[in-house]
Amino acid sequence: MDRRKFLMGVGSLAFIRSPIAYSDTSLIDGLKSELIIANKILSNQGVFDAFGHISFRVPSGPGAFIMSYSKSPELVTLDDLAVYDKLGEPLHQSERVSFRERYIHSELYQSRPDVMAVCHHHSDAIIPYTVTNTPMRPVVLVAATIGSKIPTWDPKDYLPFVNSAEKGRDFAKSMGDATVALLRGHGCTVVGAGIREVVMTSIYLQRNALMLSQSLALGKVKSLSETEISKLRKILFAPDSRDRAWEYWKHKLDVM
Ligand SMILES: [Zn+2]
Repeated sequence: MDRRKFLMGVGSLAFIRSPIAYSDTSLIDGLKSELIIANKILSNQGVFDAFGHISFRVPSGPGAFIMSYSKSPELVTLDDLAVYDKLGEPLHQSERVSFRERYIHSELYQSRPDVMAVCHHHSDAIIPYTVTNTPMRPVVLVAATIGSKIPTWDPKDYLPFVNSAEKGRDFAKSMGDATVALLRGHGCTVVGAGIREVVMTSIYLQRNALMLSQSLALGKVKSLSETEISKLRKILFAPDSRDRAWEYWKHKLDVM
């Protein structure tokens, strides 16, 4: 698809206001609304604070994605969303400032066709596993979504901070086909097949880190086996489990 058709087909849709529920008229409108909820859920669950960001891939635009301009995630509204091209640059001219770390998203969408959503956050609970030799591994059943291979990106020549496409490529290469990757002294990045999967994995990654830290203080830790992880991921990512969790976290917003 050439750039002009892409702009006509996606760029025009990307700035239409929409209700919070999915509608038959626009898949992208539904995804945009879900992205707003995801920002609020991850803030409400203590995964995001003033920093952190989440995006989704535009289904019809290879490598293009939608995320907010630079803003604390809990405060993000539909008016703050922008469409980014595969290089991580905004498609429309704007005075707004983009997240410096948007190249995490652009490079992962380019290198990983399986990835439909990306979240990057700095949850305190996971930081100890980015600065020590103690590996992050799933010990809680619901955290099987984080997978068994969790690499740590620790570049030698610059800060572990992805503020260019070049660093984004290096990070994506280091992440490989993992679901979660850590960044030394910084945070982590989570990818998945959709916004809900990424929200679920981000929340349970944080909870797993807390439980793993408590378990390590007590003694030798038995983590989930490869077989257990594989079986549990299928169960947890099944629509009934995934949507049940999403509705619960969304309800916590509704009642506050
Ligand atoms: Zn960061």
